[in-house]
Amino acid sequence: MYFIFEPRGNMKKQIQNIAVMTSGGDAPGMNAAIRAVIRTAVYYKLDPYGIYRGYEGLIEGDIERFTARKVSNIINRGGTILKTARSQEFRTVEGRKKAYDQLIKNNIDALIVIGGDGSFTGAKIFAEEFDFPVIGIPGTIDNDIFGTDFTIGFDTASNTATEAIDKIRDTASSHNRLFFIEVMGRNAGFLALYSGIAGGAEEILIPEENIGIDKLVESLRRSKRAGKTSSIVVVAEGDQTGKNVFELAKYVENNLKEYESRVVIVGHIQRGGCPTTFDRVLASRLGVKAVEALLDGQRNIMVGLKNNSVQYTPLNDAIQFTRTINKEMLNISEILTT
Ligand code: ATP
Repeated sequence: MYFIFEPRGNMKKQIQNIAVMTSGGDAPGMNAAIRAVIRTAVYYKLDPYGIYRGYEGLIEGDIERFTARKVSNIINRGGTILKTARSQEFRTVEGRKKAYDQLIKNNIDALIVIGGDGSFTGAKIFAEEFDFPVIGIPGTIDNDIFGTDFTIGFDTASNTATEAIDKIRDTASSHNRLFFIEVMGRNAGFLALYSGIAGGAEEILIPEENIGIDKLVESLRRSKRAGKTSSIVVVAEGDQTGKNVFELAKYVENNLKEYESRVVIVGHIQRGGCPTTFDRVLASRLGVKAVEALLDGQRNIMVGLKNNSVQYTPLNDAIQFTRTINKEMLNISEILTT
């Protein structure tokens, strides 16, 4: 029996039924987090529920009672068995009221949301509006959430991107070509930076930094003169060149005749596949702690990993503050591309 949160009226309410959902973009490791939440709930003799299709499914009452066995054999699977969705209706007060009514109808006492920035924004607004306990678990391949060193899915996605770069390098070096490899990241360059460093890219273009297109051409020219026969430029979707990756490749080719250039867009394969050991362990740790946080009386917080320990961050901070790229990483990339 756990008595922890005090809803309006100061009557202590017991947390018994908890629901978990995945929301926003899918990320490898979300299933491991769902499994951890469900099994931790069972371990503490709580009754766990799964909500399908994020806030959309919540509004429609797509809610199911889960057991420990129902999450067997999913720790190794990418995607999310609960499905995920983006819900316009949840952005409205009326939509959120419907969601609240569904939770009350199903006797749910607390909600655990696995997702990114947008999902947490919705969760925070909802929690404040209806005084409902919510815990966030960061699940997004972008790694762009304040309050955690890593988000679930980032490690798997960056390994996929690195693997793609490795394969392309074989062709690049055989043909003396210049390859532009676009990886995901409209607003954050973590995937580009990590996979670029790991794949030995000559240049890495990220949204957080503007190196300037002519400086890029100059740097590639210098590399060529220094004896490099092929080059790889990793480009985040949201880089600051102001050109899409095809236009960028053309521009560089026109200004650097020594190279023949090619473009590869790694695309959605970055989202899929078996989660890495790191992502599975991270998801397991955060899933367990999310349930324990509720039992500790925590609400409206996100559980995250900081300096290898699981810590709480208010949802408000997780949304409000931007996770910045580590300067040391930028420096490493600069030194190693010499
Ligand atoms: P990813 O980082 O993978 O894109 P995300 O969680 O940021 O994941 P979003 O599409 O931004 O994905 O948000 C998921 C859902 O959260 C939205 O479809 C919407 O239902 C809800 N949401 C986002 N912002 C708000 C908001 N301001 N108010 C209410 N709900 C919101």
